[in-house]
Formats: sequence, structure tokens, C-alpha cells
Amino acid sequence: MTSMNLSEKAEKYLQYLCLEIPTRRVGSAGNQAATDFFAKNIGAFGFQIECPSFDCIDWNQNGAQLTIDGISFETFVSPYTLGCNESKPLVAVTTLEELEMAEVAGKILLMHGDLTQEQLMPKNFPFYNPDHHRRIIELLELKKPQAIVAATTQDVSLAGAVSPFPLIEDGDFDIPSVYMTEDEGKGLAGYAGREVSLKIRAQRIPSTGCNVLARKGGQNHRRVVLFAHIDAKDGTPGAIDNATGVVILLLLAELLADYSGQLGIEIVALNGEDYYAASGEKLYLSLNEGKFTEIVLGINLDGVGYHQGHTAYSLYNCPPNLESLVHENFALHQDMVQGEPWYQSDHGLFLLHERPALAFTSDQFTELWTEIAHTSKDTPEIVDPAKLAEVAIALRKLLDSVDELIA
Ligand SMILES: [Zn+2]
Repeated sequence: MTSMNLSEKAEKYLQYLCLEIPTRRVGSAGNQAATDFFAKNIGAFGFQIECPSFDCIDWNQNGAQLTIDGISFETFVSPYTLGCNESKPLVAVTTLEELEMAEVAGKILLMHGDLTQEQLMPKNFPFYNPDHHRRIIELLELKKPQAIVAATTQDVSLAGAVSPFPLIEDGDFDIPSVYMTEDEGKGLAGYAGREVSLKIRAQRIPSTGCNVLARKGGQNHRRVVLFAHIDAKDGTPGAIDNATGVVILLLLAELLADYSGQLGIEIVALNGEDYYAASGEKLYLSLNEGKFTEIVLGINLDGVGYHQGHTAYSLYNCPPNLESLVHENFALHQDMVQGEPWYQSDHGLFLLHERPALAFTSDQFTELWTEIAHTSKDTPEIVDPAKLAEVAIALRKLLDSVDELIA
């Protein structure tokens, strides 16, 4: 298979994952089509396939209206919120202290200013959940406002390029909410004490999703695990985040069609990196309890293939012989450079268990996160398929080297 053929294949896969299916939001029909597509294609290369499934919620919305005395304010529906139809007095708070003091039961609560600088982590999110986020959520659930309006700007580290961003994106949080720009919030704050009407049309739909695992080789249980998350945020084609990672796994699987090494290879389309409940990640952890020590190297692909800049790889917890093996292999590829360590993706699962890990992304990380991630701009047009082919080829060689190393 030449790299030209691989690039052409990459384009076709991308086309399907980003354009032919409308969304890869966890629990949606598109997400199920994506995991089916992955299982079917990878199965053709002689892998054993397993698709462990989980319950989740899908969600849809049909807009919201917020009015006071016939004046409308522009709002966006928080992902995974419940719907509502209320007319209640408005209370506005800008700090945690104000929230602690405020009487908000049965009222519509406007949160803005200091209180809405960071997207709040979902209440049951297992991997990162700072105390000040927990405290805000706890207070809201205790004080029971009828609904929440959050005025926000941008939070690059937690919400990517989306602006304004949803303060709350949590299917486990049951107070209905919308969000709006900071300017709109300032205007609305002037009406504190007045009666506001808020109608949110949204519903949660019980659904299921799955991870797809493909295994090959390995008589002795020691294995390399490769992850790419297959889900995407609602409202984005999710090309760089993270159809490209999935495409690299498919290309690599084809290059491994004749593989029969001692080293076990486990390729995983994880389903939940961009989902409030991280369902696929939690499922992988629970099904691999006590088995992480078998993992010789965990590899994660997220954000690879941006048409500008280079592919950046970073290493974590690697013993020196493994580390030099990686550098030697990748030195042959001009477009691959060593990048800064980063922690906002699924290689965190390997790090949680102190396993050696290798993560791939683009070195234009900052631009991607501030301008593109989680928006409609993340399309196949900004992907260079040759970069995806290159990573697949480099990984194929690396797996042979690791196989020799552990033999
Ligand atoms: Zn991602």
C-alpha cells in the first residue's frame, strides 16, 4: 500500500465520518453509524472485533425564547438541558459569594461576570473536577432556581473555540439552562427583579453507544493499545477532532493486515471524549481493571492532520529503551516533531494507571483550540490526508520495533 493510496483512502474515510453522517454526538444515529463503519472496515483486515455497549442519552433541541415585557434576548440552549416554560422573577449574580447569599428558589437565575469564566465540569465527570466547579453546582442544586441563564465569552481550555460557550453541558444536571453573550447578559442584568419568560424546547432521549475494539497478534498478553475517540461534539463535523484519529487507526489496521507478531495489538475507537459522561472511557476502564499492567505502550491520537504545521508527538512514563525506539522511528519522518506534553485527551487513561504513553496531535494546537475546535469550521478541508498516511506508516514500523523489543 503506497502512501498515495493511503491518502486517498483517508479522504474517503473522512468524507464518510464528517460529511455523510450528520453528527457523531454520542447516542445519536450518526454516532452509531460511525461505530458500525469502524467495526465493519477494521474487521475486513483480520482483526477480532468487540463492541461493548453502554447506556447514554441522546438529546435534541428546538431553540429557546427569553423575553421581558416583549423584549427578546438572544439565547442558546445548553447541551443536554431539560426543557422548560416559565415566567418568574429574575435574579442576577456575578460571584460565588453573591450566589451563596442570593434567594433564588423558584426564580430565573442570571449568572455572569466572575462566576462564568470557566465551563463547569459535568457533576459526575470522573477525571477532572475542581472544587470551585463542584461548589457552584452544589449551590445551584441546593438553592433550586427554576432555570439558569449564563452569560459567557470563551473558555479555550475547556470549551475550545466556541464563543459564547455553554456554562453547563451536563445530562446529569436537571435545572434547565440557556447561555448568551456577555453583552446580552449585561443588558439582561438591568432587568433584575422583573418577571422573565423563558421557554426552552429540548428533550433527553435514552439511547446506547459502544466502543469498538479490534485485536490481533499477541500470545503473551503484552500489548500496545491505540486509542482515537470517535465521538464529536454536537454542531461540528469533527474532522480534526477527531475523525482524523479514527482514520489513522483504519489506515494502520490495513497496514497490519498481515501482522502476526508476539506483541498484542488492540485498536480502540473510544466513544465519549467529547461527551459529558465520558461513557466510553469509563467502560474501557472498568473492563480493563487489573489489566493495565499488560499495556507495554498506550498510544492516543487526537487533533492530528491539520493542514498547517507538523504532527507533534509526546511521550509519557516511557522507559529509556522505548523512548529511544520511538525517537529513532519518527526521526525518519520529516513532518513529525516532538511536541509539548498535554493532558486533555484519552491518553489520560494510560497515565491514570502509570503506563507508558505516546500521544499525537498537531503542533498548531493553540490555533486549533482557540479558533476551530468544537465549531462548524472543523471540516475535512482543513485536513492534509498525507499527514494521516504518514502517521499510520510510522506507527506500523514502530509496532514492529516494539514487537522485537519485547521478544
Ligand atoms: Zn478530541
